[in-house]
Amino acid sequence: MLISVVIPVYNESDLIEDLYKAVMSAMTKFTNDFEVICVNDGSKDDTLLKLQVCHQRDKRFKVLNLSRNFGHQSAYTAGLSYAKGDYVAMMDGDLQDPPELIADMYKCAIDNQSDVVYGRRTERHETFFKKLSIKLFHFIFNKLSNINAPANVGNFSVMNRKALEAFLALEEKNRYLPGLRFFIGFKQDYVDYSRDDRTIGEAKMNFSRLLKLALDALFSFSKLPIKICIYLGMIGIIFTLIGGAVVLYKKLTGEAITGWSSILVSMYFLGSVQLLFMGIIGEYVHRIFVETQNRPVFIVKDFFED
Ligand code: UDP
Ligand code: MG
Repeated sequence: MLISVVIPVYNESDLIEDLYKAVMSAMTKFTNDFEVICVNDGSKDDTLLKLQVCHQRDKRFKVLNLSRNFGHQSAYTAGLSYAKGDYVAMMDGDLQDPPELIADMYKCAIDNQSDVVYGRRTERHETFFKKLSIKLFHFIFNKLSNINAPANVGNFSVMNRKALEAFLALEEKNRYLPGLRFFIGFKQDYVDYSRDDRTIGEAKMNFSRLLKLALDALFSFSKLPIKICIYLGMIGIIFTLIGGAVVLYKKLTGEAITGWSSILVSMYFLGSVQLLFMGIIGEYVHRIFVETQNRPVFIVKDFFED
């Protein structure tokens, strides 16, 4: 049973050494048959150099170098498609997720015959603002999306080949991997763990990147924004018709219409509502555009395999 561990890294020069040691020791403790695929997501510092040094030390530590920064989710996708393992683990490179848990998730998959086992965070040691926004995202996502995804679950997981093939067969470009992983179905289980804060370096997923990911997740798994648009439009039309009838009645009975300001205000109001929802439709149109463009999710520059 070959086990692959896929790890994306971006500007993580300071922690490559620790990462290498932690992953290699956690893996050798429970198997000899493994490979680590570290994906360098277009780092601008000397991350690649350090990865290559590690690769020279142990050939099981492989380095996949992307041609530029494609983002966290694309880097994972790249690594997953190069993984040869019968079981494949996804793990962030910042050691916030304990590599020792891969053994537990793998055992859980074997014992329960699960196809996907993910790590469920019982607690997170991160800043208050980050925890709050992540909670809020999971709450909204669960309410709006048409998949029933558990909260407190990220990328950290183990999958077997069958699940991985299904996962990689999804070729959409705006990728929210935890969502896609639930979307594929199969038998899914979880192992609980507590997530530490980063000890080395800063989070590379800054607020705007996380926001983009959250929007990708919402827009690619929910039709609700369009539905709101349609419902509000229908309600608006009904109210306008009633209002029109009232005005007509007053006109016919000879009462003069005063209060132009209220008319102007409601016109502006409707105008803004229309603008807002044109934006929402525009978002979907844009997504169709991106999908039809059919650009690759990643372009590999080189693959340091042996
Ligand atoms: N990462 C990446 N490409 C990016 C941003 C981040 O490969 O464009 C990597 C990063 O080096 C780290 C992992 O993805 O190994 C998770 O990033 P981070 O810790 O910043 O995310 P968070 O823990 O805040 O979700
Ligand atoms: Mg992190």
